[in-house]
Amino acid sequence: MGSRGDATMIYWNDKDRGYPISLESGTKGIWISCTACKHSDKWLWGRVAQTWRAGTYTRDLTRSLKCSRCGAKEACVMAWAWGPLENPPRLTARI
Ligand SMILES: [Zn+2]
Repeated sequence: MGSRGDATMIYWNDKDRGYPISLESGTKGIWISCTACKHSDKWLWGRVAQTWRAGTYTRDLTRSLKCSRCGAKEACVMAWAWGPLENPPRLTARI
């Protein structure tokens, strides 16, 4: 297998280890989703780095996750490089 891009979704049951996480990949963090209940979350690299060491492979990362909603250990992760941050400003004005 050749190198896989950061946009690749890595599943807990992939045969491949995925790729080692790196804080210098130019992405914001990782997007995590539970394949059982579709619950998803976005983690900035700061939070990722507090939980796993740099160089941890993405598949190992998914295997250590447990869904906070349904309790399944069937996560998938993808590099998070686009879209709004976790807490976008609320719209306050109303016309
Ligand atoms: Zn779940």
